[in-house]
Amino acid sequence: MNGAAGNSRLRRLIKPAARPVVQFLFNRLGPLSSSPAPVPILLYHSLDGSGSDLSLSPEKFRRQMAWLHRHGWRVLTLSGYAAALKGGTLRPPAAVITFDDGYKNFFAQARPVLDRYGFKATIFIAADFVGRSSGSFSLLDLPLLDRSELAALSGEGHEIGSHTLSHPSLPRLTADRSRREIEESKTVLEELTGEEIGSFAYPRGDYTAGIVEMVRTAGYQAAVTLRPGNRGRMEEIFTLPRVTLRPGDGLGYFRLALGPFFGRYQRLFQLPVRPR
Ligand SMILES: [Zn+2]
Repeated sequence: MNGAAGNSRLRRLIKPAARPVVQFLFNRLGPLSSSPAPVPILLYHSLDGSGSDLSLSPEKFRRQMAWLHRHGWRVLTLSGYAAALKGGTLRPPAAVITFDDGYKNFFAQARPVLDRYGFKATIFIAADFVGRSSGSFSLLDLPLLDRSELAALSGEGHEIGSHTLSHPSLPRLTADRSRREIEESKTVLEELTGEEIGSFAYPRGDYTAGIVEMVRTAGYQAAVTLRPGNRGRMEEIFTLPRVTLRPGDGLGYFRLALGPFFGRYQRLFQLPVRPR
């Protein structure tokens, strides 16, 4: 039996029901790890109780933020993270909190919780959809943040990043269309916020080497993907991994996702890259 076959048998043996046990064990072992602590980039979409793949309940979000605060974690914007990574000054425990698509419920559900702890989020906006709804590009059909809300959030220190103009899968477009999505969204959001837009998130997590180069030459400083992982490296400043929080994820999973054994846990259960 080769190694790959052995691994897949192991995966079948470790049923999803065993996940909380593995999470508990990894969390107990975490402090013994000799590798440097990761600095995870957390990914949220909508805070609502629907249980959809793109949703997390507001209560779970509150508990996660309270946990970060209680345990002395600092929260960086993605620009702050990129600057610290470049400068070699990234010091755990620290995390980045990102929200994709800019659902309007950020304002009522996330903002007051983040305010309570002095945390600043990075919100990725598809510029054509400001003040509209998400039904045409997302499995959720919900209202999105409008101009005045985005300007207010930016003024309060939250970072607004680009999620293109129209939320396409960029590799499916012509090079000219892709470049327009990447460059014009930056300009539109800069006019809206009065701030330089330095962060980018690939819609659906889709990118190629050519797309990455366009993001770099457009003047962005960092970009995030849907690739799972909690350790960013300087070489991948334009393809940073993230940690997705899903509706079924409890505090045990949250702690694991912030810790040194997240990669091993991902491989053990072959967690999917979704949601998109
Ligand atoms: Zn998106």
